[in-house]
Amino acid sequence: MPSLLSVDEALERILSSLSPLPAERAPLLQCLGRALAEDIRAETNYPPFPNSSMDGYAVRAEDVATASAGTPVHLRLSMDIPAGAAPTTPLRSHEAARIMTGAPLPQGADAVVPVEATDGQWIPGSEDSLPPVVTIFKSVQPGDYVRQSGEDIRAGQVVLTAGTTVRAPEIGVLAMLGCVHAPVTRQPRVAILSTGDELADVYEPLTPGKIRDSNSYSLAALVATYGGIPLRLPIARDTLDDVRRRFRDALEQRPDLILSSAGVSVGAFDIVRTVLNEMGRVEFWRINLRPGKPLAFGELQGVPFFGLPGNPVSAMVTFDIFVRPVLSKLGNRADQTPTVTVHTAEDIRSDGRRSYLRVRLADENGQLVARLTGSQSSGVLTSMVMADGLLIVPEDVTFVPAGTPLPVRLLRYNVQ
Ligand code: AMP
Ligand code: MG
Repeated sequence: MPSLLSVDEALERILSSLSPLPAERAPLLQCLGRALAEDIRAETNYPPFPNSSMDGYAVRAEDVATASAGTPVHLRLSMDIPAGAAPTTPLRSHEAARIMTGAPLPQGADAVVPVEATDGQWIPGSEDSLPPVVTIFKSVQPGDYVRQSGEDIRAGQVVLTAGTTVRAPEIGVLAMLGCVHAPVTRQPRVAILSTGDELADVYEPLTPGKIRDSNSYSLAALVATYGGIPLRLPIARDTLDDVRRRFRDALEQRPDLILSSAGVSVGAFDIVRTVLNEMGRVEFWRINLRPGKPLAFGELQGVPFFGLPGNPVSAMVTFDIFVRPVLSKLGNRADQTPTVTVHTAEDIRSDGRRSYLRVRLADENGQLVARLTGSQSSGVLTSMVMADGLLIVPEDVTFVPAGTPLPVRLLRYNVQ
C-alpha cells in the first residue's frame, strides 16, 4: 500500500503555502470576528470629562468634611446638572449641584455625595422647582463618586493592537473612540462547488437515483461560521465541459479560495482531475485520516483550491481539520480550534488511521465523558447534528478501552 500522508504534514504543507489577505476599512459592525489590521490609538481621553458615578450632589469635599448623621451640613443648591448637560457656572464654596450619573462635574466641585446620604428627593422633571437647600449626612473625600477624565483611556494611548480579533468588547471600544470604520483584514471570498450527476439542488424534485446536494450548503454555512464569505455555484455535472464551465464560473467570482466536493476518490476521479490539471496545479493526497482519506489541494490560476471528499460527513470533517485553519490564516486570526481532553465512555475499535469520531459529551459522576453518536458511516450526516465534538483516535491505534483520556475537537461550545 502506498504510504499515506499524515494529517499534520498535510496541514503544515497547506498552511505554509498561504499568507493573510490584505486589509480594508470596514463599517464598524462588519468588523466583528475579523483581525484588526492596524493599532488603534485614542485621540482624546475617555471619559472625556470628569463625571458623576452616582445620582447625588456635586460638592467641594472640604465643605462637607464634618458631615455625619448627627452633624449634618446644609449647602445652598445652586444648579441642576442632568446627563448630557454642560455646566457653565462654577460651584462656589458652600454650594451643591444636583447631578445625575454620567453628568459632568461643574468647575470647583471635586466629589459627589450620593442622594441616599442627603435629604434630597429625586423627582424627575423637578428641575424648575429645586429646593433652596440640601442637607448632607456624610463626608466625602475629593474624587469620591467621580469618574475622572481619562480613567478608562488616555489620549494618545494604543487601545487595541494590530492582529486583535474584534469581538463585542472591541466593537464597543471602537464605537467609544468614534470609529465609524476600522481597518481589518479582508474576509476570504470562498467559491463552493458540488460535482456529481446524482445531485439535485434543494429546490429541485428528487427523481429516482438522485440525492440532494447537501455539501455546498453545509460548506457554505461552515465558511460563514468561520469568517468567510460563501459563494455557492450551481452543481457541476459529471462531464468535462460542465466541470470546466463551473470551475471557470468559480474563478470569475474573484475568490480567495475554491472548495469543491466529490470527485476526488478513485472512481469518480478522472473528470475532476483532468479539469484541475488543465486549470492549475493540484496534488491528490491520500491522508492517514478517517473519515476523509482522499483530499486534493493546490491552486487554480493562483487561487488556493481544496477538493474535499463527497461524503457529507467527510466533507464537513475535512473542512474542520484543513479549511478552518486556512480561513483563520487568510483572515490573519490565530487558529483557535477548541480541544478538550475527555475520557471515552465505551470500548472503541479503530483501523489504525487517525480517526475523528463523532461524539456526544456528558457529565457522568463529575467527569466529562465522550460517547459515540452511533453509526460512524461518513454518509450519516445527522451524526454531525448530534455531535458535540470529534474524538481524535491517534494513528496506529486499533483498540481504545473505555476510560481512556483522548482529545476532542469541540464543534459546539455550549456543551451540557
Ligand atoms: P464521490 O466522491 O463523487 O464518489 O462521492 C462520494 C459520495 O458522496 C457519494 O455517495 C455521493 O453521492 C456523495 N456526495 C457527493 N457530493 C455530494 C453532495 N454535494 N451532497 C451530498 N452528497 C454528496
Ligand atoms: Mg461523484
